[in-house]
Amino acid sequence: MDTSNRYGDFRSSEPASQPVSGSGQEVIESSQMILKIVKYPDPILQQPGEPITEFNDELRQLVADMFETTYASSGVGLAAQQVGVAKRVTVIDLSLGKDPAQRLVLVNPEIIFREGKQYEEEGCLSFPEIREKISRAAKVRIRAQDEYGKWFEMDGEELLARAFQHEIDHLDGIVFLFRMSALKRNLNLRKIRKMQSEGAW
Ligand SMILES: [Zn+2]
Repeated sequence: MDTSNRYGDFRSSEPASQPVSGSGQEVIESSQMILKIVKYPDPILQQPGEPITEFNDELRQLVADMFETTYASSGVGLAAQQVGVAKRVTVIDLSLGKDPAQRLVLVNPEIIFREGKQYEEEGCLSFPEIREKISRAAKVRIRAQDEYGKWFEMDGEELLARAFQHEIDHLDGIVFLFRMSALKRNLNLRKIRKMQSEGAW
């Protein structure tokens, strides 16, 4: 089975690597913090994010902390809601911190084009242990700002397209549980309740 095409802002099966400091184009001078990841059913996960209007050091610190938190959880993406901040900012790094060129910061992102279909397994750091196939567009084009406010457009296919759609859903207050069929959703809700009762959630 090809695992390279699985998406989750999830725990990947690969070990986490430490971000290499000082080897990228941007050296992060301030220290980063690993933030607490909010789990379903925390209501902030269903709260649409406020647009970002100020591109200041506070935003850039949040972005740096979100990358650190993603790497610490062996994830490939994280939305602000997942660290308790209802704002439209998400980070994605399909290389799990191995390649600084793959670090993506999407501020105020929107999907401006979508094409085709894919149906692949996803996970989510706010839903530990839950993995489910989700129907998504095969290709998307997004428009977003970076952490300095500069607008850009970017195309994504396969795993990257899923990352864009999963994370932008978070910014709209939509968790992947609500992209599942009613049957799968109910099965997973039961699983979550069981884990909660066992203190494992
Ligand atoms: Zn997620």
